Order: sequence, then structure tokens, then C-alpha cells
Amino acid sequence: AAAGGGGTEGAALEILSRVFGYDAFRGDQAAIIAQVAGGGDAVVLMPTGGGKSLCYQIPSLLRAGTGIVISPLIALMADQVAALEGVGIRAAYLNSTLEPHEAQAVEQQLLAGELDLLYMAPERLVLPRTQELLRRAELALFAIDEAHCVSQWGHDFRPDYLGLSVLAEAFPGVPRIALTATATEATHRELTERLQMQQAAHFVASFDRPNIQYRIEPKSAPREQLLRLITAEHEGESGIVYCLSRRSVEQTAEALVARGIPALPYHAGLDAAVRQDHQERFLRADGLIIVATIAFGMGIDKPDVRFVAHLDLPKSIEGYYQETGRAGRDGLPATAWMAYGLGDVVSQRKFIDTGESSEQFKRNARAHLDAMLALCETVTCRRVQLLRYFGQDAEPCGNCDVCLSPPSTWDATVAAQKLLSALIRLDRERGQKFGAGQVIEVLRGRENERSLQSRHHELSVWGIGEELGEKEWRTVIRQLMARGLVEAEGDYGVLVPGAQAGPVLRGETTVELAVDRTPQRAARSGGR
Ligand code: ADP
Ligand code: ZN
Repeated sequence: AAAGGGGTEGAALEILSRVFGYDAFRGDQAAIIAQVAGGGDAVVLMPTGGGKSLCYQIPSLLRAGTGIVISPLIALMADQVAALEGVGIRAAYLNSTLEPHEAQAVEQQLLAGELDLLYMAPERLVLPRTQELLRRAELALFAIDEAHCVSQWGHDFRPDYLGLSVLAEAFPGVPRIALTATATEATHRELTERLQMQQAAHFVASFDRPNIQYRIEPKSAPREQLLRLITAEHEGESGIVYCLSRRSVEQTAEALVARGIPALPYHAGLDAAVRQDHQERFLRADGLIIVATIAFGMGIDKPDVRFVAHLDLPKSIEGYYQETGRAGRDGLPATAWMAYGLGDVVSQRKFIDTGESSEQFKRNARAHLDAMLALCETVTCRRVQLLRYFGQDAEPCGNCDVCLSPPSTWDATVAAQKLLSALIRLDRERGQKFGAGQVIEVLRGRENERSLQSRHHELSVWGIGEELGEKEWRTVIRQLMARGLVEAEGDYGVLVPGAQAGPVLRGETTVELAVDRTPQRAARSGGR
């Protein structure tokens, strides 16, 4: 990078237009660039598509020396570097895909001051050999991309990021800028601490994506529901459909093609060449749908994706936000649609509970899932919920499914108390825990072999919930789970009172639940 003398702001604008071809900065870009170009540290929280890259690219050009960009996305580095070279920036990357002689050539360029930007993964940066190399080079800055990866609380923790805490001490004169698109307040706090960015200037952009309409509906016949969304609202438009499993990716793509809708599968089980081909066709073509596991989308910048559909529940709000955020990057109206059901909740709970991970990891995963469920079951504006999760306030948007057709609600306080008391009695009086089916039988006073044998009819809670049918109780349980009032445990998903149950049992808070909307069209199409 060339040493910039005085007038940073004008120089930044000049680079913006001469190199990148844009005529104005967006949002906080100018302030962030001024901060870092002036030698200060910055923490930047900005949604996907907000324009984070320029925030470190331009300061790297303004300052003497090379800007070191730390990113976990090795697969994207070659493309990123090629794009920069295309606009005349001297860029390179160091990663495991390079032959030793290629890496050596890059190192020579770095030492000779011939690079504006150098990309590398964190595991490379923390090697003593790399640090030795960097100490011999002139450095413009460190940019820590995807900085939320340093947070153990976050949904995307990468242990190698912890090693980045050494940068502050090892390179005291070099400004650092940490950037992420997925930061809750908890993650923000944690990354600030772990990266030692307490003295940095913090820039938190709005995470609202006003052109995206958020909709979540009960899952009944997901492929039919998806088809209806496409034919009714997005015929001939580009979209991304996310599924959890490879099998369901394949089947969904086939189902769409069978109905004459152009769709391609994308998942890690496909040949790399096929994946690459499908991705490129999706990027170039109009009106193509890609059906994918979450392996798809990192670094994808297609402006006219008109809808993102989830056929399975994402594991966290961060994931949901990131995936839905790929819709409508051009600012035009777009849809984020999801079908979700009790089966999603139970299977994801079980997956977490029976996994091999540490207790800490499981606790985090459960908390992430709970927050996601709360968003699914909210009876207030989805956008308000989503932004509140990221610590931001908003007014009801008037453009999500809840705002557009508010669900009717009922006072379920007594039902919740009955359910919770039944769980407590079964456990305290008998030392027993049961899954939803048996608990509902106790509530409704339905005798069967097991209840007779266990003398459940002698319990004081036997039959106290007769007024609701089995299906209604299931809806109640699903919604109470989403609010942390009830939890499912272990292999069998036995129900236990949740952390928030106390005030409800004591009558200190009321519980408003939604009447389930039935997705009518899907039900009519035969419930396949
Ligand atoms: P992020 O990394 O935050 O997801 P990018 O840096 O990839 O976002 O930027 C998203 C898109 O917006 C890119 O195509 C980029 O060229 C464009 N962009 C960024 N800043 C500006 C700007 N000031 N004016 C116009 N386009 C911009
Ligand atoms: Zn709304």
C-alpha cells in the first residue's frame, strides 16, 4: 500500500471511486476507514452485504505496508484475491492449497513490500514461523474477518481464533479491525475481550433488512408448501432452499424439477466439480433454484435472490439470519420463508442431548435452539424478535406474517399450570418422568395399561386437563417448550419443567399462546 499523506477522507473517497468504482460510502464505512487508516482499532458489526470488505481494503491501501486479512474461509481466498487483482490491487493468499514454492514466492513479495493485501487462515497466522515472517514485513493492519468465530458462546466457534489474542501484544503498533455479520451482545462482548479490543472504536450497524419479509408456518407437507410458495409468489425467480440432510436436498430438487421448476442440488456429498458447476450456474442464471444444505452460501454474493426457504429448522438465530440474509441483497422485496414442526424440535433436542460434545457445548446449543424456537412461536412481530436478539430495538414491521395476520391468542395460564403441576407430581410423588404422550394421558385421565399399573388415577392431577384434546395439548407443549417453560430431556424426550416455570406456577405471570394456524392448502393437497 502507498503511504497516504494527510486528508484521509478525501484519499479514501478517491480510492473508492478510482479503484472500486463507487461514488459514496455506505453507513459507517467512512468513519471506520478513518479510524483504522489513522492507526486505531475497530470492531465492526455489520450485516451480510453491508460492505465490510472495503472497511479494511481501503485502509490497507491508504497505509504503508501490507494489510493482513485473517479469514477461516480458505476456499474463498483464491476468488477474493482474483477479484482484487481484477481492480489492480496487489493481493495474495497463503494457505494449505499452495505448493511450497508458491508460498515462498508470496512470502518474498510480502517482504519486498509488493503486496497491498495478504489473506491467510488463523491456524497459519499463529504459527511461530508466520509470526517471524510478519515481524520482518511492514504491516498496514490486521483485519480479523468472521470475528465471531472466537466466541465460544457463538454458533461458529473455531479454536484457532483464540490464538489471535496474541496480536495485540506481538504487534503493538499495527491497527486491528475485527468484523462480523453475526453478533449478539454476548458474542460482541466475548470477542472484544478475547481479541483484546477494549480500546477499539465499536461500530454497530442496524441489522434490519427491511426488504425481507419473514414468514414461518407450521410444517405439514413441506414440499407441497414450498411448491405453493414458488408458484404463487416466485415463479421464474432465483431462490435458495435449505434442507438439513443430503437426502432431503436431493429429493426436494427432484420434486421441483418434476414440476417443471429448474432446480439444482448442492451438498457436501456431491463431487467438488459438480458442486462448483451448480454454484456457478446458480450465480449466472436467472430463475434457477438451488436446493442445499447449509454448506452452501458462504461468500455467495448474488444480488437478486428473491426467496430463501427453510424446510428444516436452523440450529440458531444467527444461522437463520445469515441464511435468510442472502435474499434481496439488491434491496428489492424478498421472502424468507420457513416450515417448522414439533418433529424438528424433538429431533434437534435429541441430536444435541445424545451428541458427544462437552456439556458446555450442549448448553450453548440448547440455548441457541431455544431462541430459534421462540422466534418460530412468537405472537409479536418477527422482525422485532429477530432484532431484539441482536440487541437492537425496532417497531412492529407491518410486513411479516405475524404483523400481516396476527394469530389469535388465548390465555393458557391455567393449562400451563396444570401441565407443570402434572410433571412435578409425577416426578415428586412417584419419581417418574414421561414423554408428551403419557403426560397428556394423565392430564386427560385416559386409562391404559401403563397408567393403571402405575396407579396414575390416584394422583391428584389425574384428569385435570380434560377440557383440551390431545392435539391441543401437543400444541400447548410445543409452544411452552419454545418459551422455556417446559423442556424435553434425554433419549426419550421426557418432559421436565423449564427454567422459566416458577413464576407461572406461582401465578405471577400469565401465558398467552397462539391458536395454531393450519396451512390450509397443504392440508387440502392430501397431506402427503
Ligand atoms: P459484507 O462483507 O459485509 O457481506 P461486502 O463487503 O461483500 O459485504 O459488500 C457487499 C456488496 O456491496 C459488494 O458487492 C460490494 O462491492 C458492495 N459495496 C460495498 N460498499 C459499497 C459502497 N460504498 N457503494 C456501493 N457498493 C458497495
Ligand atoms: Zn412484523
